[in-house]
Amino acid sequence: MRHSEFHRAHRIGWLRAAVLGANDGIVSTASLVIGVASAGISHDAILITGIAGLVSGAMSMAAGEYVSVSSQADTEAADLAREAEELATQPEHELEELQGIYISRGLSPDLAAQVALQLTQHDALGAHARDELGITEMMNARPIQAALASAATFAIGASLPLLVTVFCSESTTVPSVAGTSLAFLATLGGLAARAGGAHVFTGASRVAIWGALAMVATAAIGKLFGVVAAY
Ligand SMILES: [Zn+2]
Repeated sequence: MRHSEFHRAHRIGWLRAAVLGANDGIVSTASLVIGVASAGISHDAILITGIAGLVSGAMSMAAGEYVSVSSQADTEAADLAREAEELATQPEHELEELQGIYISRGLSPDLAAQVALQLTQHDALGAHARDELGITEMMNARPIQAALASAATFAIGASLPLLVTVFCSESTTVPSVAGTSLAFLATLGGLAARAGGAHVFTGASRVAIWGALAMVATAAIGKLFGVVAAY
């Protein structure tokens, strides 16, 4: 992979994670605000609910990301420790294994033997980590960084419908938050699709449709509870 493509792939990975986090923030907070607004509660109560949704959502994203990336880091560390042990106890077998990997990738047995030997002499664990276990520098898990990035992108996404809620009146909350949130979602979906080289319209409509479904569902529930509460 050329240097520029490597960086593009890395950038797209980050962008996709950021867009997904922001989408989550928009969909869950907009749906929450629309749900409680449809139940007819006061504007202040709607805002408090939205802020609580932002904080709880960001914390849960951070917790989920931290736990999943940490367990990935644990798995990687355990795999590397086992590999180091095998390299120490059965070096010939490990060298054959590496040679086998290169043959399966298309090298002639002689060339594969040479490459395996030289890479083993240079950095045996690095060669096995990369070519046998698929652990590359890029995948080096950073749980705290991932958790903070995930919480931040969620919070940024969630703050959009919240800002709209601050500036609109009680009677216009539902249509304003729904309309602007769908526009934010479509824009982000389109951007992510474009960055990934996919169709902008497909990317935009896919996330907007799911966002709309979530908002309709919470609006219906809010209406229902609003009616029940009035009795
Ligand atoms: Zn190995």
